[in-house]
Amino acid sequence: MDHAEKPSHAYKIQAGDGFIIMERYREFKSFAAHLPIPTRGDRSPTDKMRITVSCPNIKTYLDNPEQFLPEKVTCLNNPEHRPHHHTGWERFFVVDHVEKVLIPMFRWYCRACKESISIWPEFVLPYQPEGVETHELAVVDHLAGKSFVETARELGYDPRTVAQWVARIIGQAFSLVPKVIGRMLQDMPNSSLPLSPAVAIESVKVLLAWLREWAEFVNFTRTNRLIGLCNLLGQGHWPIWGAPPGRPRLSG
Ligand SMILES: [Zn+2]
Repeated sequence: MDHAEKPSHAYKIQAGDGFIIMERYREFKSFAAHLPIPTRGDRSPTDKMRITVSCPNIKTYLDNPEQFLPEKVTCLNNPEHRPHHHTGWERFFVVDHVEKVLIPMFRWYCRACKESISIWPEFVLPYQPEGVETHELAVVDHLAGKSFVETARELGYDPRTVAQWVARIIGQAFSLVPKVIGRMLQDMPNSSLPLSPAVAIESVKVLLAWLREWAEFVNFTRTNRLIGLCNLLGQGHWPIWGAPPGRPRLSG
């Protein structure tokens, strides 16, 4: 089944998710040190440490953002370091690609590394004010054959911005696929999904298919937020979908 044929807004969201993925997330944290991937080398020296946390939606986050903070923040460079709660900041977030709000963000600081560690709700992307759903919608629309103009019209953005998002996602997916598949094969060794895409656009389809299979495996029901799931899986080591953006242009 080609999951990429489905537009993301057609995915069914089931009730009752939220805690299971959090359990899996804690498991990942506890054995992440033993994984062959990701490694320190996956992050460029200019990347700040970034930890993604599971969070069902913007409203729940805004009601009480601190409930989503990890109990203990681990330094990604060295788990023996002891980061301390540092400070917070506010950033813009565009809810449902329409309403722009300020949301609180939190960060820790590791004195040993002289680096901060920021905590990101899974639906928020570094640099990008739009949520993962918006970016994912754009790329799934593109895979389904929709034009940038059509997607942009529905979102209220300029087609050039949508094209930039899609180009970045495709570009990043190509290098990300081996890491993601390597990680998922540890839990789903008998998966029959394709392993190595030949061309860049195929890499996005392969990546989304693997993420969707993984989502079912861990009961991650927010399947229009597979990029968010990918961020959770990456544990801050995969610098994805958060590259410095270029300025988004609104239509009209
Ligand atoms: Zn450190």
